[in-house]
Amino acid sequence: MSGTSPSQEFDIVIVGGAMAGATLALGLANLNHSLSKPLSIAVIEAHQADDSHPGFDARSIAIAHGSIFALTQLGIWPALKHLGTPINDIHVSDRGHFGMTELNAKPLGLDALGQVVELAKVGSVLFEELQQANIKLFCPAKLNQLLPKTDAHYLTLDDGTTISAKLLVAADGANSVVRQQLNQTAEQIDFGQSAIVANVETAKPHHNWAYERFTETGPLALLPMSHVNGQASEASARMSLVWALAPEQAAHLAQVSDAEFLQQLQNAFGYRVGQFTQVGKRVTYPLTLTTMPRPIYHRCVFVGNAAQTLHPIAGQGFNLGLRDVVGLIEVIKAALQSGLSSVAEQSTFDVGSSAIVHQYLAARQQDRDSTISNIEFLVRGFSNQYWPLVAGRSVGLRLLSWLPPLKRPVAEIAMGWR
Ligand SMILES: Cc1cc2nc3c(=O)[nH]c(=O)nc-3n(C[C@H](O)[C@H](O)[C@H](O)COP(=O)(O)OP(=O)(O)OC[C@H]3O[C@@H](n4cnc5c(N)ncnc54)[C@H](O)[C@@H]3O)c2cc1C
Repeated sequence: MSGTSPSQEFDIVIVGGAMAGATLALGLANLNHSLSKPLSIAVIEAHQADDSHPGFDARSIAIAHGSIFALTQLGIWPALKHLGTPINDIHVSDRGHFGMTELNAKPLGLDALGQVVELAKVGSVLFEELQQANIKLFCPAKLNQLLPKTDAHYLTLDDGTTISAKLLVAADGANSVVRQQLNQTAEQIDFGQSAIVANVETAKPHHNWAYERFTETGPLALLPMSHVNGQASEASARMSLVWALAPEQAAHLAQVSDAEFLQQLQNAFGYRVGQFTQVGKRVTYPLTLTTMPRPIYHRCVFVGNAAQTLHPIAGQGFNLGLRDVVGLIEVIKAALQSGLSSVAEQSTFDVGSSAIVHQYLAARQQDRDSTISNIEFLVRGFSNQYWPLVAGRSVGLRLLSWLPPLKRPVAEIAMGWR
């Protein structure tokens, strides 16, 4: 696009309508209900919510207790609630070493430590909500070209449509096109691991326990899932597996027969949930840590995986992305509330101002930095067989179970309160 006027102008354009982009759009639509002059919002999403959608694939993810609270505040959780399987207890262990600990909801006075949801199902619900909300949805449509101007970004979509955004939000994932178009850099650490993700059936019901087991090859997590029709059942024995391995091992295990895979899994995990009896489709993901040192640009902010893509070891990717979303909404809300009460004042409100973009950066810095460094530490610490580290982490896990008060800060991190 040269400099010609775009056909439609928006206050906020969100590129990417998966977990981060959709929750941001719905949260902003909710904020609009309290404004006399609502913000105009558009979402550009390349895929419809079907099997081909990369953001709403066969993964199940754990949404921490704190994130459920945030989704409720944003008015989004009520529509998703029926899809959740509660996690009541978490068991953490270290294969071949004596370290193990538990986190339990009851002593913390909670109904659940978090909820497990299947992204494909969440995608269908969020997509429907986006269609019903007062939002312009360009879908399926891709951002092709971006032209930063003083007062707005000019965007060209793949069908030639041109639009402008006072504030551009990149929620377009790990390989963010917005980041590439703006020549912004991201730092990448390759952990030399891939994750195999699959649904498995076990001989014993899981009773809403989640498991995290650190093995010689990498961490292995099992999340409880509900039975068919989205109904959480006490007797359910379906679990979602994320198993981090060396890439060649992951490639091998992705191809072996179901029986061979189940045997290898049994060897790595043991019999805490009884025998593994079935495995569904296996999918592999390369595991890298991609982070933008400064997830902002002129009239532009980055949220979710576009700002940082984490290792799934601690189940923090969306939980952190959601805190980006909440952080941005809070900054916009605060700016709107500071002396902009009349319609006339709201008409001149510039949601992409440098002040708002920098307030977002400041609001997110500490949480991003500490979450990213904690996860890097966990991945390196628990993938290592160097004996002082092994001893250290075993003692650490054991101490945690001997000294319950110490569990609270750990639980708070796991549950997304920090
Ligand atoms: C195996 C695994 C397990 C995980 N488990 C957990 C967990 O337990 N808990 C947790 O919190 N997190 C977990 N995560 C992380 C979580 O899944 C992600 O952080 C989250 O789904 C990312 O959402 P996002 O919207 O930021 O990005 P994405 O899902 O990458 O979405 C980006 C969107 O942008 C769209 N897009 C891209 N380019 C364009 C373009 N040019 N134009 C228009 N649209 C575009 C894409 O179609 C896509 O819909 C896990 C991840 C993996 C891989």
